[in-house]
Amino acid sequence: MHISLDKQVALVTGASSGLGYACAKGLAAAGASVVINYNSQAEPAEKLAAEIRQQGGQAIAVQGDVSSQDDVNHLIAQAVENFGGLDILVANSGLQKDAPIGEMTLQEWQKVIDVNLTGQFLTAQAALLQFRKQKGQRQVSRATGKIIHVSSVHQVIPWAGHVNYAASKGGVDLLMRSIAQEVGEEQIRVNSIAPGAIATAINAENTEGDAAKKLLELIPYGRIGAAEDVANAVVWLASDLSDYVHGTTLFIDGGMTLYPEFRGNG
Ligand code: NAD
Repeated sequence: MHISLDKQVALVTGASSGLGYACAKGLAAAGASVVINYNSQAEPAEKLAAEIRQQGGQAIAVQGDVSSQDDVNHLIAQAVENFGGLDILVANSGLQKDAPIGEMTLQEWQKVIDVNLTGQFLTAQAALLQFRKQKGQRQVSRATGKIIHVSSVHQVIPWAGHVNYAASKGGVDLLMRSIAQEVGEEQIRVNSIAPGAIATAINAENTEGDAAKKLLELIPYGRIGAAEDVANAVVWLASDLSDYVHGTTLFIDGGMTLYPEFRGNG
């Protein structure tokens, strides 16, 4: 089965590293023109954009902080200016600022909520306003537009020492489902993906060496995920092959959410 995103335009936030980088690459390989957003790491984002262009695709790297409404509007404007519209948003940017609850500062709480939750709201809102503006003008997909939120298994698994992160991802779940309920009749398709343990910069200390062995106990499928595992699912969710998938979260976690501690009869 071949997935084509030909003539479609995608914005991927936080795409200078990890899952966002792999998603931008995967969407471009499927034929989409891609706006590669980065916050602070210009070099890998510019390099990826150049690589995609060399291979005959279309891509630009654009700086922007997803917790700033002006920056988010600028990202959408760049998609429209350079590629003529927007069809796919992958709201991927996220970070962790971990601390036990008694020691977590207001700044650590606020920063994670600003990027992981407010950033998801701002990018989704700006994308859907653009989808509405261009409705009927782009015959590139069955849907008027597609929003893919990047959540986490921690939208359902509580996470001691990470209350800001878990709260932000729990928030993403109801944000996604409420938007999906609200805009579905406009044929705007809204879903989340929830990765488990995928080896990237955000969790390097847990996915390498002895820590990796411990982590594997939490993964029934028996391996740590790769960024491409997530990118493949995102490409499918962005395509018409998943046109009837709306308001749902796709867990990409090797079974981490299956309560593996109960494998031995609890
Ligand atoms: P990562 O650190 O490589 O990527 C996060 C990206 O977000 C970075 O490129 C960073 O620059 C960007 N970012 C941070 N603050 C930003 C801001 N204010 N504006 C714009 N971009 C900003 O880690 P990753 O693993 O690729 O994480 C990507 C997403 O996947 C995050 O939302 C994360 O919570 C989620 N996730 C990752 C895993 C995993 O195992 N790697 C598991 C569950 C969820």
